[in-house]
Amino acid sequence: MPTPSLTKNILEKLTTIVGPAGIETNKEELLCYSYDGTGQEFLPEAVLFPENTKQVAGIMKIAHAHTIPVVPRGAGSGMTGGSLPLKGGLVLALAKMNRILEVDPENQIAVVEPGVITGNLRKRVAQDGLSYPPDPASVAFCTMGGNVAECAGGPSAVKYGVTRDYVLGLEVVLSDGRILATGVRTNKGVVGYDLTRLFTGSEGTLAIITKIIVRLIAHPTATRTTMLLFGDLQEATSLVAKLLLSHTPAKLEYLDGTALNIVAGKLPTPLPKGTRAMLIIELDGDPESVAIQAEKLDLFLARQPAIQQQVNATDAKQAKRLWFARKQVSPSAFKLKPDKISEDVVVPKTKIPDLVQKTEKLARDLNLLIFTFGHAGDGNIHVNIMVDKSDHKEYARAKQAKESLFKAVLELGGTLSGEHGVGTTKAEHIGLELSETSIAVMKELKNVFDPLNILNPGKIF
Ligand SMILES: Cc1cc2nc3c(=O)[nH]c(=O)nc-3n(C[C@H](O)[C@H](O)[C@H](O)COP(=O)(O)OP(=O)(O)OC[C@H]3O[C@@H](n4cnc5c(N)ncnc54)[C@H](O)[C@@H]3O)c2cc1C
Repeated sequence: MPTPSLTKNILEKLTTIVGPAGIETNKEELLCYSYDGTGQEFLPEAVLFPENTKQVAGIMKIAHAHTIPVVPRGAGSGMTGGSLPLKGGLVLALAKMNRILEVDPENQIAVVEPGVITGNLRKRVAQDGLSYPPDPASVAFCTMGGNVAECAGGPSAVKYGVTRDYVLGLEVVLSDGRILATGVRTNKGVVGYDLTRLFTGSEGTLAIITKIIVRLIAHPTATRTTMLLFGDLQEATSLVAKLLLSHTPAKLEYLDGTALNIVAGKLPTPLPKGTRAMLIIELDGDPESVAIQAEKLDLFLARQPAIQQQVNATDAKQAKRLWFARKQVSPSAFKLKPDKISEDVVVPKTKIPDLVQKTEKLARDLNLLIFTFGHAGDGNIHVNIMVDKSDHKEYARAKQAKESLFKAVLELGGTLSGEHGVGTTKAEHIGLELSETSIAVMKELKNVFDPLNILNPGKIF
């Protein structure tokens, strides 16, 4: 248990800022802010619900004066422990700062508060024929603040990129309570260092994000969604790099046999016997361009003998059902075992088959259930090591598998995380990828922004 840092006097000062309705200290309520997608649990001493930047700045001034840990929190859907108060102190729940402040269709930008649910922004800008492309599978409940802090990605990253490709500027509150505006409202801007990019992906360790300016693009008016079924996972994943040489799908995902089995009942069509892998390919654009892309893709696919069956979604409803099934893979995994170690490694696209092979070997050698699925088009593979943590021997083998997986990924020229970040779960492993100098420079940067180490302490390093 960390040493409590909140006195009655400090709690009173904080209450003056957010009002009695903006602070929670009841244990039952605190429990709701003690977990995230990893299943770990750390209890804060208080949760604060600021409604505006001024309140966030006031809170940070008090936290700074009394050296109190502050952990910003969006929806708590993170997969690496980022929003957990490891050292106690305050959780800063940003859910009440959930206004879409501006949508400017002509200049194709939007300005939002950090608590805006990403899916709500996407729906709102679609009314103006615009798209905010980043689409993490958690889009229906995760927040824009959490997305920026993790630099979230999703299936459409293969064509459209990730969160950082859309963040033009930010308003942040620094650890001492100063308010800083970074970036621009224009598509270009190179005045000074790019602090916007530095804060994007900084996992709540450098500043509290209180406003986000994002770039929007024209909404594609047509799509075509295709399922490709394979009897062999190697053959499915080998097709990815080959396909991307001459096609630009909006999404290119894969599911292995286990992932398919756990969502089989949710898929729009029954799977033929012997299906061991699926690729999902979505094309988008205006109707004419989708028709041309589809014709070219179908010619290519017809020449691939490894494909067991090609099923094109007949309508938007069927495509929606397919994507729903894909989104259900992660939560449905708990049908297999009570716990999972969930990694989001990335390898060069040509190396996906090697990674899959290495993962299958790890599962055999260590007698574990490991399955993979994910953003094949980016080489960003979700490796799920299924485990029962109460079985200590199995859990030890699972941790061994994770370490071996990371080493294999780096040998293949990859990286340990494509979108979930480091948080607590990869902190002890970053030295495998980053040099001592790199880590030292990052710690120096952390020290510039947060010399007292009060912002999300214990994360990344
Ligand atoms: C079923 C499921 C599917 C998922 N699919 C994807 C996916 O496809 N792609 C993907 O990238 N991720 C995915 N995730 C992970 C998660 O949804 C993302 O990391 C998301 O960006 C987290 O947003 P959140 O609002 O839940 O943030 P939280 O989990 O609350 O916080 C995440 C991190 O951001 C920090 N933070 C939050 N708000 C702020 C702020 N205002 N200022 C500074 N720091 C802040 C926190 O301190 C923490 O370090 C998935 C998670 C689940 C449960």
